[in-house]
Amino acid sequence: MQWFGKGSGNVEDRRGMSGGAIGGGIGVIVVIIGMLFGTDLTGLVSQLPAGGGTATAGKRGVPEDAAGKFVSGVLESTDSVWIAQFNKMGKEYEPPTVTLFDNSVQSACGNASSAVGPFYCPADHKVYIDLTFYQELKDRFGAAGDFAQAYVIAHEVGHHVQNLLGISEKMDQARGQLSEKEYNKLSVKLELQADFFAGLWAHDAQNLKNFKLEAGDLEEALNAANAIGDDKLQKQAQGEVVPDAFTHGTSAQRMYWFKKGFDTGDINEGDTFNSKDL
Ligand SMILES: [Zn+2]
Repeated sequence: MQWFGKGSGNVEDRRGMSGGAIGGGIGVIVVIIGMLFGTDLTGLVSQLPAGGGTATAGKRGVPEDAAGKFVSGVLESTDSVWIAQFNKMGKEYEPPTVTLFDNSVQSACGNASSAVGPFYCPADHKVYIDLTFYQELKDRFGAAGDFAQAYVIAHEVGHHVQNLLGISEKMDQARGQLSEKEYNKLSVKLELQADFFAGLWAHDAQNLKNFKLEAGDLEEALNAANAIGDDKLQKQAQGEVVPDAFTHGTSAQRMYWFKKGFDTGDINEGDTFNSKDL
């Protein structure tokens, strides 16, 4: 994957800071099944003791290291894609911030540890990521490559888009009215739409010449989508698959919706909520 941009300044670098960190921090990521790429922060907020220090604002701008620069490049690209898409809808896109952190972080959605994987907080419009997740993605899930890493950011930005479009709010309203089983079904649709938006980003970003895909790039993202499907994760964790407990979709579904966004480049094709197949 070749980049042509100079990077977005909307990156907040809290790496190496103690804002909200639990004592010492072990630095090992234990991925909690089912929370990968999750937006459901109810369990997460209580996961760490509150009052671990006030949230400290990190340094804003394009980071100087390669990994930070990469994130900032992907963010710049998602900005340009979604500004154009929102323009077409007659709406204005408000770019999100990506916050880089180590071990644990304080967000407007509560304290979170790296264990939950990258997440988006609707309350502060920020995507949070501990970059050691990329190592985890490679070592544990066999999903390596820069395009797989870009997909992770694009998926979280997809949740931001859902937030701006009012889709996340509808989900919140449904939460109290549905059984857990029914809510999980909705959650799968939300996650698959974020995958679709990630595919749409990849489609448009190429057209906007933000980057050029190289051989194997698309496979990298599909491989990542495949590796982190609920069915795969559950099988690894408990040896059997329980569809009612799916909150992110199966590997096949995640790949399907990413690919659909990538192939069509048409936001109208991404209505997972009214899809007969789901
Ligand atoms: Zn997600």
